[in-house]
Amino acid sequence: MEPLQTLTAPTATRPMLGMTVLVVEDSIYASEALRLLCLRSGARIRRADCLRSARRHLQVYRPSAIIVDLGLPDGNGTELIRDLARAAPKVSVIAALSGDTGAQEAAMAAGADCFMEKPLTSIARFQSTILAHMPPEYRLSGPRALSQDQVEPDQIAYLDDITHAAEVLPETGDPGMLAYLTQFLSGVARCAGDEALLSAVEALEKARAAGQPTHAALAVLDELLQERLRERVAI
Ligand code: CA
Repeated sequence: MEPLQTLTAPTATRPMLGMTVLVVEDSIYASEALRLLCLRSGARIRRADCLRSARRHLQVYRPSAIIVDLGLPDGNGTELIRDLARAAPKVSVIAALSGDTGAQEAAMAAGADCFMEKPLTSIARFQSTILAHMPPEYRLSGPRALSQDQVEPDQIAYLDDITHAAEVLPETGDPGMLAYLTQFLSGVARCAGDEALLSAVEALEKARAAGQPTHAALAVLDELLQERLRERVAI
């Protein structure tokens, strides 16, 4: 009989077998990409969509790795990274995730073990980034063929994010909400390769950052979101 351990020990094709990954991410599309990456790697995934639910989860469970998106509805992911880096025992891998590479320095200074840039699609890059920080038993010896495969979440996950954005948009009279919406949508548009949406968000962000009126840019954005949602009916 095979020893029980072989059932959960990592293998060349499933190098993250036995691991549990907590993903703290508010975008359904980005979460779906991470779900597919974990699935293809043999890891279990748990998800939290804000800092509060991540903290609640961490009171009960200790994942092998945690991937923290930096732009979350109730704060910046670096806050959670800072607390986790100081905790004992420490989660083996604390990864920061963002579409903004400019955020890397702050995340690393807060104690992240690594930084992952969105969009995340490469299975090989995902595995090597996480496994580099795992204990030695997860570093398989000998050469192994790295998967060239990419993951691509389906359109439904993308439209879930668009729905969320359309719900938040009427609340953007609040400056915090406006800031949240622009960073959320710029991440989503970049991940999904939606160029038209990205330029509408960039126009809004430019007006916002300059302290100029945002209603014209918001109207353009709203129209684009509604257009995406009408397309949903066709799916
Ligand atoms: Ca986010």
